Amino acid sequence: MSKHSASGKEWEKFRQLVFRVHGRVCVRCGNYANTVDHLDPVSLGGDVIPSIDRAVPMCTSCNSIKGNKVRKRCTYVNKEWLQAI
Ligand SMILES: [Zn+2]
Repeated sequence: MSKHSASGKEWEKFRQLVFRVHGRVCVRCGNYANTVDHLDPVSLGGDVIPSIDRAVPMCTSCNSIKGNKVRKRCTYVNKEWLQAI
């Protein structure tokens, strides 16, 4: 069971919304993003479907490198980019 399995359709809708609002550029490396990452990890009590500004596009390789490691997720996000949304 993945952390997203409970959301199903809702998650897919949210994912598409994130790509529409934030674009499809990975926030870490700038490659094409095909996953959405939570700024507030679900494993740490974040919402599975957070508000739009708490989710960012990310490519699969960055997302898999990151895994479920606990770290300050926001450090890799371009702050100016976030403010420009
Ligand atoms: Zn990336």
